Amino acid sequence: MGTAAKLTRENRTITIDFHDEATYFRLIDDGRAFVECVLAFLLALGFQLIHKATCRGGGCLTRHSHYARVRLGGITIWRLQCTTCRVVFTVLPHFVLRYRQMRPDVAREALLATHGGLSLERCAVLYHISPMALYRMVCALGHQSLVCVLTRCGLPLPVYVLADEKHSYCLTEKVYLPTIVCGRVIWHLGYTTEASAAAFTQSYQEFQRTASQQEPSYRVKGVLTDGFDSTTKSMRTLFPGARLGNCLRHALNKLPKKLTAIASPIRQALRSQFHTLLHRSRQRKGLRVFALGQRLHHFANHVAATAGVANGARVRRWFQDKKAGWYAVLTDPQMPVTSTLLDQAHNAIERKLFAMKGFHHPGGSQQAFLIGLAHLYNLVPYQRRAKHGHQCGVEVEGGTLPTNDWFLNLQILTSGGFQRAPATLHH
Ligand SMILES: [Zn+2]
Repeated sequence: MGTAAKLTRENRTITIDFHDEATYFRLIDDGRAFVECVLAFLLALGFQLIHKATCRGGGCLTRHSHYARVRLGGITIWRLQCTTCRVVFTVLPHFVLRYRQMRPDVAREALLATHGGLSLERCAVLYHISPMALYRMVCALGHQSLVCVLTRCGLPLPVYVLADEKHSYCLTEKVYLPTIVCGRVIWHLGYTTEASAAAFTQSYQEFQRTASQQEPSYRVKGVLTDGFDSTTKSMRTLFPGARLGNCLRHALNKLPKKLTAIASPIRQALRSQFHTLLHRSRQRKGLRVFALGQRLHHFANHVAATAGVANGARVRRWFQDKKAGWYAVLTDPQMPVTSTLLDQAHNAIERKLFAMKGFHHPGGSQQAFLIGLAHLYNLVPYQRRAKHGHQCGVEVEGGTLPTNDWFLNLQILTSGGFQRAPATLHH
């Protein structure tokens, strides 16, 4: 295992779909045909190989590339070397995994079960593998960044995003998972041991950095958060020009907590009036920001009259604090209004975090494991609604996948040696 991991890091691995094993074994002895098949596959995907930055080799291999055949675990594998920058690409046929002890059909089942919320231990028993092998498999997927994989699918970098942190535990220590979601896909899933603005900034910066590398002109226009101070601060630092909104549904759920020492029917009535207020403000386009300011003012007076001066004052202070974030949501029609999709992503990841517990220690690969889980979240088809039956998050958001097979897609897209061809980068 150690040696295999080392080899894949020194080289760049690419997974190529040879359709069936027979085709692969027919091509394996014919150098020219083999390279042509690899090139045709790259062309069909719109992918290029990642050479060294200084390479003038044209981003692709030629028939003149050097190659070597090596035996790995009983199968002949090709290594192709760029004659210009001397980068070596290890060509893995689709029926071979980077983590070679596990057969792809076993990995497919085990990952699906993991994604479905079954513990690593239970998956391991079901598929006769070790829990550690499955853990490492997920971690291996996590070596490719979410931004790289999603842009390989042709998804544009997200302009309006949801950002929030999931609170969790590593053994007894509290930890946080800073997350960025756009629609049905997770663009960032980080891991921090502190809830400070500095810690969150460091995590979210990973996303910002990778995205800017992909597209130097990338700008986030709007971010919706739940209004947590550290989150807002880190977003302001990383995305200076972006509009920062506060989730309206979160506001609605927060109101009852601001109303103390009153009878529950009064609290419920006020909540439902607040709901109507936010709902009407959303419908009044154009004038709605002004309208919201007026309505909040009247509502705070109404709270003071029905629930007492103390509650009225508390609600007014809360409005002062949050209303800029609500205005931001209402002024830009493209801003997300609620963070529901982010909550759903967190709930899906939550179930798997429990599976981490046995592997949870301060020196563990939490970050890689989480990114691996996020890849599964983005690429495994889900059937929550008939409308998107058999589609994965990437497809729902308008991305294109290499094949119809989610597991093959996962293998191809998380291969380290691929990048999107520049011609298709800005489509
Ligand atoms: Zn090269």
